[in-house]
Amino acid sequence: MKADRIADPWGARAPYRRHDAWPSRVDAYLAEGVEPGAVQKWVGAASLLHSGGDAMDIAVVDGRMAGVRGRAVDRVSRGRLGPKDLFGWQANASPDRLTRPLVRRDGHLVETDWDTAMELVAARTRELLDERGPGSIGFYTSGQLFLEEYYTLAVLARAGIGTNHLDGNTRLCTATAAEALKASFGCDGQPGSFDDLDHADVIALFGHNMAETQTVQWTRVLDRLAGGDPPRLLCVDPRPTQVARHATLHLAPRVGTNMALLNALLHETIRHDRVDHDFVEAHTVGFEELAERVASCTPEWAADICDVPAARITEAAELVGTTDALLSTVLQGVYQAHQATAAAVQVNNLHLIRGMLGRPGAGVLQMNGQPSAQNTRECGADGDLPGFRNWQNDSHVADLAKVWNVEPSTIPHFAPPTHAMQMFRYAEQGSIAMLWISGTNPAVSLPELARVRALLAQERLFTVVQDLFLTETARLADVVLPAATWGEKTGTITNADRTVHLCEKAVEPPGEARADLDIFLDFARRMDFRDKDGGPLIGWQEPEEAFEAWKRCSAGRPCDYTGLSYDRLRDAGGIQWPCTEANPRGTERLYTDGITWAHPDHCESYGKDLETGAAVDPVEYRSLNPDGKAVLRAAAYVEPHEMPDDRHPFQLSTGRTLYHFHTRTKTGRVAQLDEAAPEVWVEACAADAMRLGLGEGDLVRVATPRGALEARLRVTDIRPGLLFVPFHYGYWDTKEGDGPDGGGPGRAANETTITDWDPASKQPLFKTAAAALTLVARADGRYAPAPTTTASAPSDPDSVPATAGGQQAYATQNSEPGGTP
Ligand code: SF4
Repeated sequence: MKADRIADPWGARAPYRRHDAWPSRVDAYLAEGVEPGAVQKWVGAASLLHSGGDAMDIAVVDGRMAGVRGRAVDRVSRGRLGPKDLFGWQANASPDRLTRPLVRRDGHLVETDWDTAMELVAARTRELLDERGPGSIGFYTSGQLFLEEYYTLAVLARAGIGTNHLDGNTRLCTATAAEALKASFGCDGQPGSFDDLDHADVIALFGHNMAETQTVQWTRVLDRLAGGDPPRLLCVDPRPTQVARHATLHLAPRVGTNMALLNALLHETIRHDRVDHDFVEAHTVGFEELAERVASCTPEWAADICDVPAARITEAAELVGTTDALLSTVLQGVYQAHQATAAAVQVNNLHLIRGMLGRPGAGVLQMNGQPSAQNTRECGADGDLPGFRNWQNDSHVADLAKVWNVEPSTIPHFAPPTHAMQMFRYAEQGSIAMLWISGTNPAVSLPELARVRALLAQERLFTVVQDLFLTETARLADVVLPAATWGEKTGTITNADRTVHLCEKAVEPPGEARADLDIFLDFARRMDFRDKDGGPLIGWQEPEEAFEAWKRCSAGRPCDYTGLSYDRLRDAGGIQWPCTEANPRGTERLYTDGITWAHPDHCESYGKDLETGAAVDPVEYRSLNPDGKAVLRAAAYVEPHEMPDDRHPFQLSTGRTLYHFHTRTKTGRVAQLDEAAPEVWVEACAADAMRLGLGEGDLVRVATPRGALEARLRVTDIRPGLLFVPFHYGYWDTKEGDGPDGGGPGRAANETTITDWDPASKQPLFKTAAAALTLVARADGRYAPAPTTTASAPSDPDSVPATAGGQQAYATQNSEPGGTP
């Protein structure tokens, strides 16, 4: 059976009942003219353009990628693929891939050879180390490389260079997930499993548009909704997402008020004594303080703040408070707000006081966005030490030093590892003089772009960019290194439910492009990094050797990989960590038998004050939690930092759409995906549009105190008073290439966003700016280039043509047992 997977991103239904196994359905797409019989080999991989980790095989014909298919046995997807999985691989063959290194000469980037480029990077590094020390060098990486690459980067940055400045773009995305898990459980590590979707009675999605961010897992929810005994859904989202449209109860609170809503849900749970007292007694500390903190947070109190009727809040509290199996998921609606960690922690609290953890259908998924975001966290490439080691615990640092055979003093641990927002501040101020950016595009993805462009363009800052294309960021660099990508190199990625997949090299990279691992290893060789006995600090050459080295670093830690190997992953497919020789099948759920990693001697973090971000000190933590239980951390609601006023009467939220990923570096180069959402747009509700005399397709300007953008208006059922702009659109496909045309209003959402972050996770705020909306030009028969299949569906469905992909988007879906297309 074939279907247009742009028009129907989730594909055909396979209904199933609660506690049954999710039926398989193998999706596949082969390039036009390629018959299945022509495929010469299928090479194993997993998805790169979201955090789901859907296993897939890459079709190879004559040394080129020719398509993909899902794998029916995969524990994550049961063979399904989303639109970005099906079509995204085509970006690899774009004619504008970088194929040779570039260096800046007389203000222009010119081609050079690898030796010249790498020697330039190494020479500048040596110079800075001699003159200014390791603190002058920073590394900013991605959530899209492989585990082996992050681990190598972490070793070379922390023990080779000795800098504390290493973070990932995961700071914009999953920093709050990690921080909330550390705050509650003492340690990172996803408690739940995607399989909990099969068993849950109530699924509560907090700021998580699963239909667009994890399309395959949303397919799973749709299949359960179509089967017997369907789950009841609670959706907390200010937009009319597909999740909202299928929800039993949809709450659309004012943005920036999640904390008030969650405190009210906790208030009701405690008031009605829906508390599992045995669980609380056995496994938590802090219940009294939490109860006291939420005592006055009635639904009526929250109703005023959230602009949601109190009766709906009571209803939501009953839904999550009376079910026997609650699965909660959390993403950017919570994570990119000013009380991100505090609110995400209250979701953990809800589960802890209800005893909803560690059994089928009862769990928390603090979600990730990127395919290997989890790996940046565990490998220490995102502002933590590798293996979830605690920088404040000297014995953890000593243990890591032993693994690397260096002195503990070599590993910077005098202060918390520097977070990305601070690194860019240091680069702006000049104390960071060299910034190495791998696999990410901060000139579009960071807030307040005019500032980011200016700081990246500074002459005194030496910028190295390693990427597939000449991105907006690469255009500002001093050295550009052409990188190989998924399908062109080998490595592992770990998805949002701790499932590790092996991605193997299927084809050669274009031109002279190199795997990120090879680039880091080349640099380490040139720098001649040594351990304390004079041996090479990094003793591996190949991905599999790097994986084995990582296993040694992870041994005995919560993210223990010692039971995994490339061969096992090849044979068994995805396996969830921790996985040891004693537990070779991996671990479906954490905390099935109490809280395991919160003990003061073992925990990754002693936590932070949720309101100020101040680190809790070891003595205080030990006295609060001597036995290592989960910590119920309470916090009060605080108003968003920037509130609407007369000049900026709207709230503005940015976010993603189903068909694109990040800054469109890949998805903007794929016809099926790009045509579904070719240009930026702005969403406002019908009442607001009517009040301002605006209509569908009008060209409008969105302005905040930082900057402005212009886009066409889509009138939707979004909550009144709120504007939404997708954040994917930058400038690489415009005349200017790296910024707005002639200094006028741009098209990037981040022209308008604010340099501000959550105090605990340091995740920037993208959800709560104050903005003005004005008319620039009438639609004149045009309509907004926004998809109709998603949260951007028009309130009047007949007002614009339905999104469809046509013939080029037809993919097969095979539900026969064992069948492959
Ligand atoms: S789109 Fe959002 S959730 Fe997804 S990876 Fe990017 S920042 Fe994370």
